[in-house]
Amino acid sequence: MVASGVEKRVRIAVVGGELAGAILVRALMNCPNLDLQLYEAGAEFGEEDTAIEIGVAGEEALQTIGSELLSVLENAGASSLKSTRMVISNTSTSISVDTEISDLANDLPVHVVRKSSFIDVLLEPVPSANLHTHRSVISIHPSKNGGVHLHFQDGTASYADAVVGADGFQGYTRQHVLGSDYPALSAGREYRALVPIEEARKLLGAIGLTENRQYTWMGKGWLVRLGTFDRDRTAFCIASHIDEKPGVSHDLRQTNDRTFLEKAFKGWGNQVVKNTIISLLLQHPITPPFPLYHHTHPIASYIKSRVCVVGEAANTGSHWDGSGPSQEIEDVLVLSALLAEIRESTELEAVFKSYDEARRPRRQAYSQANVMIDAILFEKTGANIDPEQLREAFATTHASEQNFEMEKYKLEALKLYNKINNS
Ligand SMILES: Cc1cc2nc3c(=O)[nH]c(=O)nc-3n(C[C@H](O)[C@H](O)[C@H](O)COP(=O)(O)OP(=O)(O)OC[C@H]3O[C@@H](n4cnc5c(N)ncnc54)[C@H](O)[C@@H]3O)c2cc1C
Repeated sequence: MVASGVEKRVRIAVVGGELAGAILVRALMNCPNLDLQLYEAGAEFGEEDTAIEIGVAGEEALQTIGSELLSVLENAGASSLKSTRMVISNTSTSISVDTEISDLANDLPVHVVRKSSFIDVLLEPVPSANLHTHRSVISIHPSKNGGVHLHFQDGTASYADAVVGADGFQGYTRQHVLGSDYPALSAGREYRALVPIEEARKLLGAIGLTENRQYTWMGKGWLVRLGTFDRDRTAFCIASHIDEKPGVSHDLRQTNDRTFLEKAFKGWGNQVVKNTIISLLLQHPITPPFPLYHHTHPIASYIKSRVCVVGEAANTGSHWDGSGPSQEIEDVLVLSALLAEIRESTELEAVFKSYDEARRPRRQAYSQANVMIDAILFEKTGANIDPEQLREAFATTHASEQNFEMEKYKLEALKLYNKINNS
Protein backbone atom coordinates (compact mmCIF):
# COMPACT_ATOMS: atom_id res chain seq x y z
CA MET A 1 0.00 0.00 0.00
CA VAL A 2 2.70 2.45 1.01
CA ALA A 3 6.36 1.65 1.69
CA SER A 4 6.89 0.83 5.34
CA GLY A 5 8.83 3.33 7.44
CA VAL A 6 7.15 6.39 5.90
CA GLU A 7 5.90 8.54 8.77
CA LYS A 8 2.86 10.77 9.11
CA ARG A 9 0.66 9.12 6.58
CA VAL A 10 -3.00 9.83 7.20
CA ARG A 11 -4.56 6.63 8.46
CA ILE A 12 -8.04 5.80 7.20
CA ALA A 13 -10.06 2.88 8.56
CA VAL A 14 -12.46 1.56 5.93
CA VAL A 15 -15.22 -0.50 7.54
CA GLY A 16 -16.88 -3.10 5.29
CA GLY A 17 -15.08 -5.02 2.57
CA GLU A 18 -17.68 -5.44 -0.13
CA LEU A 19 -18.23 -3.30 -3.21
CA ALA A 20 -17.71 0.25 -1.89
CA GLY A 21 -14.97 -0.57 0.65
CA ALA A 22 -12.98 -2.78 -1.71
CA ILE A 23 -13.06 -0.29 -4.60
CA LEU A 24 -12.02 2.56 -2.29
CA VAL A 25 -9.03 0.66 -0.93
CA ARG A 26 -7.98 -0.45 -4.42
CA ALA A 27 -8.38 3.11 -5.75
CA LEU A 28 -6.10 4.60 -3.09
CA MET A 29 -3.60 1.76 -2.58
CA ASN A 30 -0.76 3.67 -4.21
CA CYS A 31 -1.49 7.04 -2.65
CA PRO A 32 1.72 8.00 -0.79
CA ASN A 33 0.06 10.13 1.88
CA LEU A 34 -2.54 7.60 2.92
CA ASP A 35 -2.54 4.39 4.89
CA LEU A 36 -5.84 2.56 4.35
CA GLN A 37 -6.85 -0.37 6.55
CA LEU A 38 -9.87 -2.43 5.47
CA TYR A 39 -11.92 -4.09 8.23
CA GLU A 40 -14.52 -6.71 7.31
CA ALA A 41 -16.85 -8.43 9.79
CA GLY A 42 -17.12 -11.61 7.72
CA ALA A 43 -14.67 -14.47 7.35
CA GLU A 44 -13.61 -13.28 3.90
CA PHE A 45 -13.98 -10.39 1.48
CA GLY A 46 -16.68 -10.67 -1.17
CA GLU A 47 -18.46 -13.51 0.61
CA GLU A 48 -21.87 -12.97 -0.96
CA ASP A 49 -22.25 -15.00 -4.14
CA THR A 50 -24.54 -12.96 -6.31
CA ALA A 51 -24.68 -11.15 -9.63
CA ILE A 52 -24.16 -7.40 -9.59
CA GLU A 53 -24.93 -5.03 -12.42
CA ILE A 54 -22.68 -2.16 -13.40
CA GLY A 55 -24.34 0.19 -15.85
CA VAL A 56 -22.88 2.87 -18.10
CA ALA A 57 -22.53 5.41 -15.26
CA GLY A 58 -20.77 2.85 -13.06
CA GLU A 59 -18.47 1.85 -15.90
CA GLU A 60 -17.53 5.46 -16.57
CA ALA A 61 -17.03 6.09 -12.85
CA LEU A 62 -14.72 3.05 -12.65
CA GLN A 63 -12.74 4.28 -15.63
CA THR A 64 -12.46 7.78 -14.10
CA ILE A 65 -11.14 6.30 -10.84
CA GLY A 66 -8.51 4.43 -12.86
CA SER A 67 -8.67 2.75 -16.26
CA GLU A 68 -7.10 -0.43 -14.78
CA LEU A 69 -10.36 -0.95 -12.89
CA LEU A 70 -12.11 -1.75 -16.18
CA SER A 71 -9.74 -4.67 -16.61
CA VAL A 72 -10.78 -5.84 -13.14
CA LEU A 73 -14.29 -6.23 -14.55
CA GLU A 74 -12.91 -8.11 -17.52
CA ASN A 75 -10.66 -10.36 -15.38
CA ALA A 76 -13.55 -11.13 -13.03
CA GLY A 77 -15.48 -12.53 -16.01
CA ALA A 78 -18.06 -9.76 -16.48
CA SER A 79 -20.57 -10.23 -19.29
CA SER A 80 -22.11 -7.34 -21.15
CA LEU A 81 -25.86 -7.40 -21.69
CA LYS A 82 -26.77 -5.15 -24.59
CA SER A 83 -30.23 -4.00 -23.63
CA THR A 84 -33.14 -4.33 -21.22
CA ARG A 85 -36.78 -5.02 -22.01
CA MET A 86 -39.27 -4.20 -19.27
CA VAL A 87 -42.91 -5.29 -19.27
CA ILE A 88 -45.85 -5.11 -16.89
CA SER A 89 -47.30 -8.57 -16.44
CA ASN A 90 -50.07 -7.96 -13.94
CA THR A 91 -53.63 -9.11 -14.43
CA SER A 92 -55.60 -5.94 -14.66
CA THR A 93 -58.76 -4.65 -16.22
CA SER A 94 -57.11 -1.67 -17.89
CA ILE A 95 -53.85 -2.95 -19.37
CA SER A 96 -53.05 -6.05 -21.32
CA VAL A 97 -50.65 -8.67 -20.01
CA ASP A 98 -47.04 -7.96 -21.03
CA THR A 99 -47.52 -4.26 -21.74
CA GLU A 100 -44.10 -2.92 -22.68
CA ILE A 101 -42.61 -0.18 -20.49
CA SER A 102 -39.35 0.17 -22.32
CA ASP A 103 -37.03 -1.64 -24.67
CA LEU A 104 -33.69 0.02 -24.24
CA ALA A 105 -32.02 -1.49 -27.25
CA ASN A 106 -28.29 -0.74 -27.11
CA ASP A 107 -28.86 2.46 -25.14
CA LEU A 108 -28.05 1.18 -21.70
CA PRO A 109 -25.71 -1.79 -21.87
CA VAL A 110 -24.90 -3.26 -18.48
CA HIS A 111 -21.98 -5.35 -17.20
CA VAL A 112 -23.03 -8.23 -14.99
CA VAL A 113 -20.38 -9.79 -12.82
CA ARG A 114 -20.14 -12.28 -9.96
CA LYS A 115 -19.66 -10.09 -6.90
CA SER A 116 -17.23 -12.46 -5.16
CA SER A 117 -14.99 -12.69 -8.27
CA PHE A 118 -15.02 -8.92 -8.75
CA ILE A 119 -13.93 -8.30 -5.14
CA ASP A 120 -11.27 -11.04 -5.31
CA VAL A 121 -9.69 -9.48 -8.41
CA LEU A 122 -10.00 -5.95 -6.96
CA LEU A 123 -8.18 -6.84 -3.74
CA GLU A 124 -5.53 -9.09 -5.33
CA PRO A 125 -2.79 -6.40 -5.41
CA VAL A 126 -3.61 -4.93 -1.99
CA PRO A 127 -1.03 -6.01 0.64
CA SER A 128 -2.48 -8.49 3.11
CA ALA A 129 -1.23 -6.32 6.01
CA ASN A 130 -3.94 -3.83 5.09
CA LEU A 131 -6.77 -6.37 4.92
CA HIS A 132 -8.49 -7.60 8.08
CA THR A 133 -11.33 -10.12 8.26
CA HIS A 134 -13.36 -11.17 11.34
CA ARG A 135 -13.20 -7.53 12.49
CA SER A 136 -16.72 -6.35 13.23
CA VAL A 137 -16.79 -2.74 14.42
CA ILE A 138 -19.01 -2.30 17.47
CA SER A 139 -18.16 1.26 18.49
CA ILE A 140 -16.35 4.38 17.34
CA HIS A 141 -15.19 7.08 19.76
CA PRO A 142 -13.40 10.37 19.11
CA SER A 143 -9.85 10.57 20.43
CA LYS A 144 -8.31 13.63 22.09
CA ASN A 145 -6.10 14.45 19.10
CA GLY A 146 -9.01 14.62 16.65
CA GLY A 147 -8.84 11.04 15.35
CA VAL A 148 -11.02 8.07 16.25
CA HIS A 149 -10.77 4.82 18.18
CA LEU A 150 -12.51 1.80 16.70
CA HIS A 151 -13.53 -1.13 18.87
CA PHE A 152 -14.17 -4.58 17.45
CA GLN A 153 -16.37 -7.43 18.56
CA ASP A 154 -13.35 -9.66 19.23
CA GLY A 155 -12.19 -7.24 21.96
CA THR A 156 -9.44 -5.58 19.90
CA ALA A 157 -9.22 -1.86 19.10
CA SER A 158 -7.53 0.34 16.55
CA TYR A 159 -6.79 4.01 15.93
CA ALA A 160 -7.40 5.97 12.72
CA ASP A 161 -7.40 9.61 11.68
CA ALA A 162 -10.80 9.02 10.07
CA VAL A 163 -13.32 6.28 9.28
CA VAL A 164 -15.09 5.55 6.02
CA GLY A 165 -18.16 3.42 6.70
CA ALA A 166 -18.83 1.05 3.81
CA ASP A 167 -20.62 -1.49 5.98
CA GLY A 168 -24.02 -1.52 4.29
CA PHE A 169 -27.43 -0.61 5.62
CA GLN A 170 -27.24 -2.99 8.58
CA GLY A 171 -23.72 -1.95 9.56
CA TYR A 172 -22.56 0.06 12.56
CA THR A 173 -21.34 3.30 10.91
CA ARG A 174 -24.72 4.11 9.37
CA GLN A 175 -26.29 4.30 12.85
CA HIS A 176 -23.26 6.18 14.14
CA VAL A 177 -23.50 8.86 11.45
CA LEU A 178 -27.21 9.04 10.77
CA GLY A 179 -28.61 8.20 14.19
CA SER A 180 -31.96 6.65 14.91
CA ASP A 181 -33.81 9.44 13.08
CA TYR A 182 -33.17 7.76 9.75
CA PRO A 183 -34.55 4.27 9.99
CA ALA A 184 -34.65 2.02 7.01
CA LEU A 185 -38.06 0.35 7.05
CA SER A 186 -38.08 -3.36 6.30
CA ALA A 187 -40.13 -3.77 3.18
CA GLY A 188 -39.85 -7.25 1.72
CA ARG A 189 -37.49 -9.83 0.34
CA GLU A 190 -35.44 -10.55 -2.71
CA TYR A 191 -35.19 -14.13 -4.00
CA ARG A 192 -32.17 -14.90 -6.12
CA ALA A 193 -30.98 -17.89 -8.06
CA LEU A 194 -27.84 -18.51 -10.10
CA VAL A 195 -28.47 -21.34 -12.56
CA PRO A 196 -26.06 -23.00 -15.03
CA ILE A 197 -26.97 -21.69 -18.46
CA GLU A 198 -27.90 -25.01 -20.13
CA GLU A 199 -30.29 -25.83 -17.30
CA ALA A 200 -31.83 -22.35 -17.41
CA ARG A 201 -32.23 -22.35 -21.22
CA LYS A 202 -33.84 -25.78 -21.16
CA LEU A 203 -36.35 -24.63 -18.58
CA LEU A 204 -37.08 -21.22 -20.10
CA GLY A 205 -37.43 -22.20 -23.77
CA ALA A 206 -38.63 -19.11 -25.67
CA ILE A 207 -39.50 -17.19 -22.49
CA GLY A 208 -36.14 -15.53 -21.93
CA LEU A 209 -32.37 -15.59 -22.53
CA THR A 210 -32.96 -15.98 -26.25
CA GLU A 211 -31.23 -12.63 -26.84
CA ASN A 212 -28.27 -10.87 -25.21
CA ARG A 213 -30.43 -8.70 -22.97
CA GLN A 214 -31.95 -8.39 -19.54
CA TYR A 215 -35.63 -9.20 -19.16
CA THR A 216 -37.75 -7.48 -16.51
CA TRP A 217 -41.33 -8.40 -15.62
CA MET A 218 -43.24 -6.43 -13.02
CA GLY A 219 -46.63 -6.34 -11.39
CA LYS A 220 -48.34 -5.01 -8.30
CA GLY A 221 -46.03 -5.86 -5.41
CA TRP A 222 -43.22 -7.59 -7.33
CA LEU A 223 -40.46 -7.22 -9.92
CA VAL A 224 -38.37 -9.95 -11.56
CA ARG A 225 -35.08 -9.60 -13.48
CA LEU A 226 -33.47 -12.27 -15.62
CA GLY A 227 -30.22 -12.30 -17.57
CA THR A 228 -26.91 -14.04 -18.03
CA PHE A 229 -23.39 -13.46 -16.75
CA ASP A 230 -20.14 -15.35 -16.11
CA ARG A 231 -19.33 -15.04 -19.84
CA ASP A 232 -22.75 -16.50 -20.63
CA ARG A 233 -22.23 -19.56 -18.45
CA THR A 234 -24.76 -18.69 -15.72
CA ALA A 235 -28.28 -17.26 -15.61
CA PHE A 236 -29.27 -14.93 -12.79
CA CYS A 237 -32.84 -14.46 -11.68
CA ILE A 238 -33.72 -11.86 -9.06
CA ALA A 239 -37.30 -11.61 -7.80
CA SER A 240 -38.31 -8.85 -5.41
CA HIS A 241 -41.47 -9.11 -3.40
CA ILE A 242 -42.83 -6.44 -1.10
CA ASP A 243 -44.57 -7.32 2.18
CA GLU A 244 -48.20 -6.40 2.69
CA LYS A 245 -47.19 -4.73 5.96
CA PRO A 246 -43.94 -2.76 5.56
CA GLY A 247 -42.03 -2.22 8.79
CA VAL A 248 -42.95 -5.58 10.28
CA SER A 249 -39.69 -7.45 10.63
CA HIS A 250 -39.86 -10.51 8.45
CA ASP A 251 -38.64 -13.99 8.88
CA LEU A 252 -35.66 -14.40 6.59
CA ARG A 253 -35.53 -18.09 7.33
CA GLN A 254 -38.41 -18.27 4.85
CA THR A 255 -36.56 -19.90 1.98
CA ASN A 256 -37.57 -20.18 -1.63
CA ASP A 257 -40.72 -22.26 -1.58
CA ARG A 258 -43.25 -22.78 -4.43
CA THR A 259 -46.37 -22.09 -2.34
CA PHE A 260 -44.90 -18.90 -0.97
CA LEU A 261 -43.66 -17.70 -4.38
CA GLU A 262 -47.06 -18.42 -5.97
CA LYS A 263 -48.66 -16.25 -3.30
CA ALA A 264 -46.02 -13.54 -3.81
CA PHE A 265 -46.67 -13.40 -7.58
CA LYS A 266 -50.43 -13.92 -7.38
CA GLY A 267 -51.20 -11.05 -9.77
CA TRP A 268 -48.88 -12.32 -12.53
CA GLY A 269 -51.05 -12.53 -15.64
CA ASN A 270 -48.99 -14.88 -17.78
CA GLN A 271 -49.18 -18.18 -15.90
CA VAL A 272 -46.67 -19.98 -18.14
CA VAL A 273 -44.00 -17.33 -17.54
CA LYS A 274 -44.84 -17.14 -13.84
CA ASN A 275 -44.58 -20.90 -13.28
CA THR A 276 -41.36 -21.13 -15.26
CA ILE A 277 -39.74 -18.29 -13.31
CA ILE A 278 -40.79 -19.91 -10.02
CA SER A 279 -39.19 -23.19 -11.16
CA LEU A 280 -36.02 -21.27 -12.07
CA LEU A 281 -35.93 -19.60 -8.65
CA LEU A 282 -36.21 -22.99 -6.99
CA GLN A 283 -33.18 -24.28 -8.87
CA HIS A 284 -29.89 -23.34 -7.20
CA PRO A 285 -31.39 -20.62 -4.98
CA ILE A 286 -29.24 -18.26 -2.95
CA THR A 287 -30.60 -18.58 0.56
CA PRO A 288 -31.74 -17.02 2.77
CA PRO A 289 -33.63 -14.37 0.77
CA PHE A 290 -32.15 -10.89 0.87
CA PRO A 291 -34.00 -8.26 2.97
CA LEU A 292 -35.38 -5.18 1.20
CA TYR A 293 -35.43 -1.86 3.03
CA HIS A 294 -36.81 1.60 2.31
CA HIS A 295 -35.60 4.87 3.70
CA THR A 296 -38.45 6.74 5.29
CA HIS A 297 -37.05 10.19 4.43
CA PRO A 298 -34.04 11.80 2.71
CA ILE A 299 -30.74 11.74 4.57
CA ALA A 300 -29.52 15.05 6.07
CA SER A 301 -25.79 14.28 5.98
CA TYR A 302 -23.33 11.55 5.06
CA ILE A 303 -20.77 12.72 7.62
CA LYS A 304 -20.31 13.09 11.35
CA SER A 305 -17.03 14.69 12.35
CA ARG A 306 -14.25 12.29 11.22
CA VAL A 307 -16.64 9.53 10.06
CA CYS A 308 -18.39 9.38 6.70
CA VAL A 309 -20.58 6.79 5.00
CA VAL A 310 -20.49 5.49 1.42
CA GLY A 311 -22.46 2.92 -0.57
CA GLU A 312 -25.48 1.26 0.96
CA ALA A 313 -24.45 2.58 4.38
CA ALA A 314 -25.20 6.07 3.07
CA ASN A 315 -28.35 5.47 1.14
CA THR A 316 -30.12 2.17 1.10
CA GLY A 317 -33.25 1.65 -0.90
CA SER A 318 -34.57 -0.11 -3.92
CA HIS A 319 -32.67 -0.23 -7.18
CA TRP A 320 -35.35 -1.38 -9.58
CA ASP A 321 -33.27 -0.90 -12.69
CA GLY A 322 -30.18 -2.50 -11.09
CA SER A 323 -28.09 0.67 -10.93
CA GLY A 324 -27.31 0.42 -7.19
CA PRO A 325 -23.69 -0.66 -7.71
CA SER A 326 -23.13 2.31 -10.06
CA GLN A 327 -24.13 4.59 -7.20
CA GLU A 328 -21.62 2.93 -4.84
CA ILE A 329 -18.88 3.39 -7.46
CA GLU A 330 -19.77 7.07 -7.92
CA ASP A 331 -19.44 7.55 -4.13
CA VAL A 332 -15.96 6.05 -4.32
CA LEU A 333 -15.04 8.16 -7.35
CA VAL A 334 -15.79 11.40 -5.49
CA LEU A 335 -14.37 10.36 -2.12
CA SER A 336 -11.18 8.81 -3.51
CA ALA A 337 -10.44 11.90 -5.63
CA LEU A 338 -10.79 14.08 -2.53
CA LEU A 339 -8.82 11.81 -0.18
CA ALA A 340 -5.98 11.66 -2.71
CA GLU A 341 -5.53 15.43 -2.17
CA ILE A 342 -4.81 15.08 1.54
CA ARG A 343 -1.41 16.00 2.95
CA GLU A 344 -2.33 16.20 6.65
CA SER A 345 -5.09 14.82 8.83
CA THR A 346 -6.37 18.34 9.56
CA GLU A 347 -7.67 18.43 5.98
CA LEU A 348 -10.03 15.52 6.58
CA GLU A 349 -12.98 17.63 7.71
CA ALA A 350 -12.83 19.64 4.44
CA VAL A 351 -12.61 16.40 2.45
CA PHE A 352 -15.67 14.89 4.13
CA LYS A 353 -17.65 18.12 3.86
CA SER A 354 -16.88 18.35 0.14
CA TYR A 355 -17.81 14.67 -0.35
CA ASP A 356 -21.15 15.23 1.36
CA GLU A 357 -21.96 18.37 -0.63
CA ALA A 358 -20.80 16.99 -3.95
CA ARG A 359 -22.30 13.56 -3.69
CA ARG A 360 -25.53 13.64 -1.68
CA PRO A 361 -27.74 15.62 -4.12
CA ARG A 362 -27.07 13.28 -7.07
CA ARG A 363 -27.38 10.11 -5.01
CA GLN A 364 -30.60 11.27 -3.41
CA ALA A 365 -32.14 12.30 -6.74
CA TYR A 366 -31.55 8.74 -7.95
CA SER A 367 -33.04 7.38 -4.71
CA GLN A 368 -36.11 9.56 -5.06
CA ALA A 369 -36.72 8.25 -8.59
CA ASN A 370 -36.69 4.72 -7.15
CA VAL A 371 -39.07 5.80 -4.40
CA MET A 372 -41.47 6.88 -7.18
CA ILE A 373 -41.19 3.41 -8.71
CA ASP A 374 -41.83 1.89 -5.26
CA ALA A 375 -44.97 3.96 -4.97
CA ILE A 376 -46.32 2.94 -8.38
CA LEU A 377 -45.49 -0.74 -8.09
CA PHE A 378 -45.96 -1.38 -4.43
CA GLU A 379 -48.32 1.01 -2.72
CA LYS A 380 -51.77 -0.31 -2.06
CA THR A 381 -53.49 2.24 -4.26
CA GLY A 382 -55.73 -0.05 -6.25
CA ALA A 383 -54.82 -3.08 -8.30
CA ASN A 384 -53.81 -1.29 -11.48
CA ILE A 385 -50.43 0.05 -12.50
CA ASP A 386 -50.25 3.08 -14.74
CA PRO A 387 -47.74 2.26 -17.54
CA GLU A 388 -47.24 5.96 -18.33
CA GLN A 389 -46.26 6.75 -14.74
CA LEU A 390 -43.86 3.83 -14.70
CA ARG A 391 -42.30 4.87 -18.02
CA GLU A 392 -41.71 8.35 -16.63
CA ALA A 393 -40.20 7.07 -13.38
CA PHE A 394 -37.85 4.62 -15.12
CA ALA A 395 -36.90 7.33 -17.65
CA THR A 396 -35.66 9.41 -14.69
CA THR A 397 -33.42 6.63 -13.34
CA HIS A 398 -32.17 5.81 -16.86
CA ALA A 399 -31.40 9.50 -17.46
CA SER A 400 -29.17 9.54 -14.38
CA GLU A 401 -27.19 6.66 -15.94
CA GLN A 402 -26.81 8.28 -19.36
CA ASN A 403 -24.84 11.28 -20.57
CA PHE A 404 -23.28 12.10 -17.22
CA GLU A 405 -19.72 13.37 -17.33
CA MET A 406 -17.82 11.68 -14.49
CA GLU A 407 -14.54 13.54 -15.09
CA LYS A 408 -16.37 16.86 -14.82
CA TYR A 409 -18.19 15.62 -11.69
CA LYS A 410 -14.83 14.74 -10.11
CA LEU A 411 -13.29 18.10 -11.03
CA GLU A 412 -16.26 19.96 -9.57
CA ALA A 413 -15.84 18.05 -6.28
CA LEU A 414 -12.14 19.00 -6.21
CA LYS A 415 -12.99 22.63 -6.89
CA LEU A 416 -15.44 22.56 -4.00
CA TYR A 417 -12.76 21.03 -1.78
CA ASN A 418 -10.27 23.79 -2.62
CA LYS A 419 -12.88 26.39 -1.78
CA ILE A 420 -13.84 24.76 1.54
CA ASN A 421 -10.26 23.98 2.52
CA ASN A 422 -9.11 27.54 1.85
CA SER A 423 -12.03 29.26 3.55
C1 LIG B 1 -32.31 -5.05 -1.22
C2 LIG B 1 -31.22 -4.87 -2.20
C3 LIG B 1 -31.19 -5.63 -3.33
C4 LIG B 1 -30.18 -5.47 -4.26
N1 LIG B 1 -30.20 -6.22 -5.38
C5 LIG B 1 -29.24 -6.06 -6.29
C6 LIG B 1 -29.19 -6.83 -7.47
O1 LIG B 1 -30.02 -7.66 -7.64
N2 LIG B 1 -28.23 -6.60 -8.38
C7 LIG B 1 -27.33 -5.64 -8.18
O2 LIG B 1 -26.51 -5.42 -9.06
N3 LIG B 1 -27.31 -4.92 -7.06
C8 LIG B 1 -28.24 -5.10 -6.11
N4 LIG B 1 -28.25 -4.36 -4.99
C9 LIG B 1 -27.23 -3.40 -4.82
C10 LIG B 1 -25.93 -4.01 -4.32
O3 LIG B 1 -26.15 -5.08 -3.48
C11 LIG B 1 -25.26 -2.92 -3.61
O4 LIG B 1 -25.02 -1.92 -4.56
C12 LIG B 1 -23.93 -3.30 -3.01
O5 LIG B 1 -23.93 -4.58 -2.45
C13 LIG B 1 -23.64 -2.34 -1.89
O6 LIG B 1 -22.31 -2.45 -1.58
P1 LIG B 1 -21.72 -1.83 -0.25
O7 LIG B 1 -20.28 -2.10 -0.33
O8 LIG B 1 -22.19 -0.45 -0.07
O9 LIG B 1 -22.41 -2.65 0.96
P2 LIG B 1 -22.62 -4.18 1.25
O10 LIG B 1 -22.58 -4.99 0.02
O11 LIG B 1 -23.85 -4.26 2.08
O12 LIG B 1 -21.36 -4.58 2.13
C14 LIG B 1 -21.19 -4.22 3.46
C15 LIG B 1 -20.04 -5.01 4.07
O13 LIG B 1 -19.79 -4.53 5.38
C16 LIG B 1 -19.62 -5.62 6.27
N5 LIG B 1 -20.01 -5.16 7.61
C17 LIG B 1 -21.25 -4.95 8.08
N6 LIG B 1 -21.21 -4.50 9.34
C18 LIG B 1 -19.89 -4.42 9.66
C19 LIG B 1 -19.21 -4.03 10.85
N7 LIG B 1 -19.87 -3.58 11.92
N8 LIG B 1 -17.87 -4.08 10.85
C20 LIG B 1 -17.18 -4.48 9.76
N9 LIG B 1 -17.79 -4.88 8.62
C21 LIG B 1 -19.12 -4.84 8.58
C22 LIG B 1 -20.54 -6.69 5.73
O14 LIG B 1 -20.14 -7.96 6.18
C23 LIG B 1 -20.36 -6.50 4.22
O15 LIG B 1 -19.28 -7.25 3.76
C24 LIG B 1 -29.20 -4.52 -4.04
C25 LIG B 1 -29.21 -3.76 -2.87
C26 LIG B 1 -30.22 -3.93 -1.97
C27 LIG B 1 -30.24 -3.09 -0.72
